[in-house]
Amino acid sequence: MKKILVTGGAGFIGSHLCERLLNERNEVICLDNYFTGSKQNIAHLLSNPYFELIRHDVTMPIFLEVDEIYNLACPASPVHYQYNPIKTIKTSVMGAINMLGLAKRIHAKILQASTSEVYGDPDVHPQPESYWGNVNPIGIRSCYDEGKRCAESLFINYNKQNTVKIKIIRIFNTYGPRMHPNDGRVVSNFIVQALKNKPLTVFGNGSQTRSFQYVSDLVEGMIRMMGTRDKFTGPVNIGNPGEYKILELAQKIIKLTKSKSEIIFMPLPEDDPTQRKPDITIAKKELNNWNPKIPLEEGLQQTINYFKKSLNL
Ligand code: NAD
Ligand code: UDP
Repeated sequence: MKKILVTGGAGFIGSHLCERLLNERNEVICLDNYFTGSKQNIAHLLSNPYFELIRHDVTMPIFLEVDEIYNLACPASPVHYQYNPIKTIKTSVMGAINMLGLAKRIHAKILQASTSEVYGDPDVHPQPESYWGNVNPIGIRSCYDEGKRCAESLFINYNKQNTVKIKIIRIFNTYGPRMHPNDGRVVSNFIVQALKNKPLTVFGNGSQTRSFQYVSDLVEGMIRMMGTRDKFTGPVNIGNPGEYKILELAQKIIKLTKSKSEIIFMPLPEDDPTQRKPDITIAKKELNNWNPKIPLEEGLQQTINYFKKSLNL
């Protein structure tokens, strides 16, 4: 039985990862400060004797004995990561230092949940891992983008300098049940608005694109990445290459929910990337033919069912 630490384990992705790791008969320690996550996300796991919950902030050191660490602690939605930008940078950078220090001390393998945001507003499309990105270092998204870029640098250098076993994945927009209904991300916003028959808020003219990955496909990719040979550190893109205009997504969600909502257009936030689509050649090759399986409509339907139930709509 492996002992595995998941930081940010009470968040959207973290809760699915904890659940999957427990199902695969691992012992799981979930660490979270509940900034954007909640106990509700992992309430169904609390009765499992192999599940442990720790309230802790990754900006502070902690000493635990584990075999593997998945480092997910960090707010992910622009609304939340811009709420306290300095704290966001501290979470990414000091969190990485603390978790890498722990991994070094206890000889654990550690995976970093990095992001497609390291590519910024990309002028290479689709984005391969070899692309260095186009990030505004002083813009409103920089606390997140540069924090995650610095974390990648820390991971690579702990590997080179201290031989810590590291894995870096760059996650593209992921959605599914247990997203926070008010976290401001596009899929949760549109679904909740549509279910309430309120206007769907498209920012800009809706021609910007994103590629949406269902959460179970991501979790599969994360676990496969952790299991790759030690020499393979990544970074590797984990995302669904299906690319959609935001306006198209709004129309799809109205149709799937049979909503009476109209679409309204609101100002585009500063530095909002115009296009995003992962090149997943490396993931397919290195992760044993990993390929996202859940088509957008199916994943959206699952997510709609979840919000209907959890919000009583
Ligand atoms: P989330 O906000 O639901 O989860 C983040 C979790 O980290 C929350 O439970 C939060 O309470 C916790 N957390 C935040 N700051 C912390 C701190 N200082 N100490 C301890 N815990 C802290 O977001 P998510 O979508 O589940 O994202 C998880 C990870 O995946 C994040 O690192 C995010 O950057 C990365 N990611 C997500 C996406 C996506 O589309 N969802 C895309 C790219 C990268
Ligand atoms: N977006 C939108 N309406 C919303 C929320 C988001 O049009 O209510 C747009 C946003 O401007 C961006 C895209 O949807 O172009 C994805 O936004 P999200 O915050 O989900 O993720 P990110 O920008 O980090 O990819």
